[in-house]
Order: sequence, then structure tokens, then C-alpha cells
Amino acid sequence: MAKSTRKAGAARRFKMYIEGKWVESERGETFDVVSPASGEVIGTFPKGTREDANRAVEVAVAAQETIARMPIAERARLGVRITEEIRRYVKEYAVDCSLEHGKPLRESIIEVEDAIPNILWQVEDLKRWDSPTQEAYSKPDVIYMTLHEPLGTVATITPWNFPWVLPSEFVVQAMLAGNSVIYKPASNTPLSAAHLMECIDRAGVPPGVINMVTGPGGEVGTTLVEHPLVDAIGFTGETTTGIDIAKRAGLKKLTLELGGLGPLIIMDDAKLDAAVEDIAFGCFTNTGHCCVANERIFVHEEIHDRVVKSLVERTKKMKVGFPLDNDTDMGPVNNRPTLEKVEEHVADAVRKGATVVAGGKRVSGMPTDLYYYPTVIDDCAPDMLFNTVETFGPTAPIFEFSKLDEAIEMANAPRYGLSMAIHTANLRVAFEAAKRLKSGQICINEPVYSWDYFNPWGGFRNSGLGRIAGRWTLDAFSELKTVMFNVGRSPWPR
Ligand code: NDP
Repeated sequence: MAKSTRKAGAARRFKMYIEGKWVESERGETFDVVSPASGEVIGTFPKGTREDANRAVEVAVAAQETIARMPIAERARLGVRITEEIRRYVKEYAVDCSLEHGKPLRESIIEVEDAIPNILWQVEDLKRWDSPTQEAYSKPDVIYMTLHEPLGTVATITPWNFPWVLPSEFVVQAMLAGNSVIYKPASNTPLSAAHLMECIDRAGVPPGVINMVTGPGGEVGTTLVEHPLVDAIGFTGETTTGIDIAKRAGLKKLTLELGGLGPLIIMDDAKLDAAVEDIAFGCFTNTGHCCVANERIFVHEEIHDRVVKSLVERTKKMKVGFPLDNDTDMGPVNNRPTLEKVEEHVADAVRKGATVVAGGKRVSGMPTDLYYYPTVIDDCAPDMLFNTVETFGPTAPIFEFSKLDEAIEMANAPRYGLSMAIHTANLRVAFEAAKRLKSGQICINEPVYSWDYFNPWGGFRNSGLGRIAGRWTLDAFSELKTVMFNVGRSPWPR
């Protein structure tokens, strides 16, 4: 493969955003963001500290009344203005997203654009966010009203794999529900976070209502999670981090969007071309860095050989390249630990009897050594790491099965349940799988990697707590308060 000559461009200096001002860390320390695509430093950020996080919480607490008292129409207008600001710079933001993440530019453009309906959907839901009113059951003249109340101050912590979509599910939404927010983005991809904050700033969100502190999860993240004046956490990331957060957070309201180990089951009556296309899409889009990647492919023995042959042909046509090049289908792996995990899972599978039928190695001659071929591994077995630990890279491990029961048992065994999929022409089989698979989402004749702006999103078991998207995010970032009103005892004249 020819060595790419593309450059990432000069490194820029970014700041944190606290109380409506762009600020340095109190200690003055910084960290560099290195592009996995070019190996160059593309941005320098303040390395926030415990004190910076504490200060952000203080200003957020002070600003919370401002947003809670703001009429819904005004909050909605802020949401719309933020999306207008995003729309103005989609291309520029997408370039930075590709450089810091490694995904092809066309995927970044889709991602930045996706932030817009993600926010607008909630703006519309906010306008129609009703709650029940009911006459009392056990007393006369008493009415119960239910009100949505903000939680107060919300800390949102996000990972690096979708630097636009994931914060756009939390940060603005928590504000729309009347909360003040402190946002801690992933340290690998803070450029996109800084751009989102620029949009929030230009949209005129009042100072202190949304703040961003950059810096290590082990210091900034834990400070926010443990802080007694933070009322809730919206976290997306690894299951192990989610468990740590649950232990530290006490009684804060938690929304945890965690890892997946999504199985894609292909039955013998499946439409073969569509199944192969969905395998490739769900395994290699975003370099496989997706909570809803097809992490495990279960193929019925009757069609196994045909599926593998066709998938290998499809995979070998993919161009691994620099993310800003037009013909690139897949960019580099985002970071070294993830690449090493991919290599460990492939080696483990081969040691236990699997066969690499496409890829299985790094791409040479690229600007960094993080480029890895899209990889298909056949003859996988349940005792392999592929079946027990999220790989989070560009791999398609194939497991053969003969009965639906067997596939469902393997699918449920690791106790992850974010999104699961089955391809079949048989409605009865599809419905049986939908009932028996233990997962927040079941996709029929679709890849595991499927979602929309409005369906309740979240995991069973090790994949998380709570639901987001559409009105579910508003519910996640609010409390219900009951007001009991005795009309009979009211001193009104009769
Ligand atoms: P991590 O859990 O490592 O990090 C996520 C965020 O948490 C980062 O901002 C990180 O900061 C911060 N953090 C790290 N340690 C702590 C801590 N102890 N307390 C508080 N915050 C902390 O996840 P990854 O970034 O590796 O993301 C990949 C994971 O996210 C995968 O498992 C994937 O499945 C999951 N995910 C789930 C989704 C869902 O909808 N369920 C969607 C997308 C991804 P820093 O970067 O500084 O380390």
C-alpha cells in the first residue's frame, strides 16, 4: 500500500470552558492530542485538575436556577441555535473528527450532521413533555399533579469512539431538561468536544449553564463522580469504568451507557447478500469502534461456507487509508491499547483453532503503525476472547451453529445486552429470537449497528443502566414530583 503523504495540519491550542470563559487549567499543565492517522500533534489542551473540576461544579450549581427558570420556549430556542451553529461548520468539524479519531471523512460528516437531529428531536419532545394529572382514588376533592423537575447539576462523561454523537445525546439534552452541566470529554478526542462548546458559546447559553473540563478520567472524571453537589451522572464508556462510577457515585442518579458484545445471528433462510453486507457494515464501520458493532457473527452451518466466501471477497475489496482521502473505506485504529487488544484477540483465537481468512495484521507503509486490515476469522469457538470480551476493533469472528437454541444461548451467555440482531425470512423464528434474546434492542434483518433518534436506547445487564434518546433522555435527566392538591379545603369562596 502506498505511503500516504497527507498531513494533519498545524497543532492548535484549545482551552476549557468554565462560566462562559475559555480558561487554562489552574496548574497550567497541558496534554497533546496526537492524530492516529498522521502521528502528528493536532491539538494541545489544558490538563484539568481536581480543583478545576470543583470550580466547574461550583459555577454550574450557581447557574442551575437560571436554566431551570427559563421558559421552555427559550430553552428550545437555545437548542435550535446550537444546531444552527453546528450546521455552519460541518465540514471543518468533520475534518478534525477524522484526524483525532481516524474514521473516514464521509463517516465524520455523517456523525457531525447526526448531532443536529439528535438535539432537535429532544427540542420537539421538550415542547410536548406532558405528565399525568389524576383525581384521587381514596379522597374527595383531591387532585394529583405530576411535574417534571430537573435533577440539578449533571456531570456528563463521554468516550472517544463517537466524539460528536455521544455528547450530543447528553450535554445539550441535560440542559434542555433544566439542568446545569459539566462535560468531561475523552482525552483522545477533545477537539470535537471543544467545537461543540464553541457552538454552545455562540448560541448564547448563559455562563455557567454548560461547562467543559478536559483532563484525565482518573482525576477530573472521578472528582465529578464523587462531588457531593453533582446530582446525576450521564456516562458512556466501558463497563469496567461504569462499575467504578457506580461504586463511587453514591445515590446520584445514574445513566450508564456501557459496552456491548453484540451477536449477529444468520439463519439458513437469510437473504445472503444482505447478511454479508450487514456483517461488513457492522464490523468495519468506524473501524469497529462501536458499542453496537457486530462483535460476534453466528452463522448457520447450512450457509456457513457461502457466507464466509462472500464476506472474504467483500472485505478484501476494502481500502484502508488516510481518513481524509476520498477512496478510504477504513482508517486507523484510534489508539494503541485498542489495537493491542485486537491483536491479542486474534492471537488467542488462532491459538485455540480459529483461522484468519482475511486481514489479521497491520498495514505497512502508513504514516502510523495503527492501521490494521479489516479481518475475518473463521472457526471461532465459545471459549475464545472474541466471545467473552468486547474487541472494539475491525474484526468479524465467525461462529458456526446448527440450532437456534444454540445461537441464542451463545448470544446471551456473556451477560452483555445492548443490541442484538438476527437475519431470517421466518417471522416465527424472528419473534422467538426477539423474545428470548436479552438485550435493550433486537434488530431483525438489520445489523447489530442500528439505532434511531427516538427509540429508548440502553442496555440490559453489563451494558448499562437507564435509557436515552428522544424523550427518554429528558426522563433520564429529570425527577417526577407529585403535587397533591386538596381543592375542597382551599379557602376559595364557594
Ligand atoms: P472509558 O470508560 O475508558 O472512558 C470513557 C470516559 O470516561 C472518558 O472520558 C474517560 O476519560 C473517562 N474515565 C475514565 N476513567 C474514569 C473514572 N474512573 N471515572 C470517571 N471517568 C472516567 O471508555 P472508552 O473511551 O474506551 O470508550 C469505549 C467504550 O464505550 C466501549 O466499551 C463502548 O462499548 C462504550 N460505548 C457505549 C455506548 C453505548 O451507547 N452503550 C456508545 C459508545 C461507546 P479519559 O479519556 O481521560 O480516560
